[in-house]
Amino acid sequence: MITETIQQRFKDHGLKNTPQRTAIYTALVETTSHPTADDLYQLVSQDYPMISQNTVYYTLGVLQKAGLIREVNVGHDRARYDGNLSPHHHLICTSCQSIVDVMDERLNELSFPNGIPSGFTITDYQVEFRGYCKACRSKTA
Ligand SMILES: [Zn+2]
Ligand SMILES: [Zn+2]
Repeated sequence: MITETIQQRFKDHGLKNTPQRTAIYTALVETTSHPTADDLYQLVSQDYPMISQNTVYYTLGVLQKAGLIREVNVGHDRARYDGNLSPHHHLICTSCQSIVDVMDERLNELSFPNGIPSGFTITDYQVEFRGYCKACRSKTA
C-alpha cells in the first residue's frame, strides 16, 4: 500500500505517523492471515530489528482504539488482528486456527434478531463459520 494513503488514514483517525507505526499497520493491511501480535512482531522486525515486542503490542492497541484495525477472537487466548475493515466475515478452522475472509453480500444484509434490549443500537456484526480446513481434514481422515 502506498505510504501516502496510510499517512492520510492516520491523519483522519487523529494518529501521529511514526515509521514503526506505519510498518506495523502496513504489514497488517497487506496480509490476509489475521496474525497475532507475535506474528506481526516477527514480520516487522525483519525490516526494523530495533522494534520491541512491547512496541508492537502497544501500537496494535493504539491502532485498534483509533478504529484502523480490528481484533478477531477465535476463542483462544491470543488475539488475532485484521487490517481489513470492509464488511466481511470469517471461516475459522478449529484445529489449526487459520482464519479465512468470507465476502458475501447476503451476510451483510442479515435482518436484526428478535430480543434485542430496547435502546440497543447495533452498529456492526460479524459472522463466524467454524470447521476444519482442507489440510486439517485430510490429516484426520
Ligand atoms: Zn486447519
Ligand atoms: Zn478478516
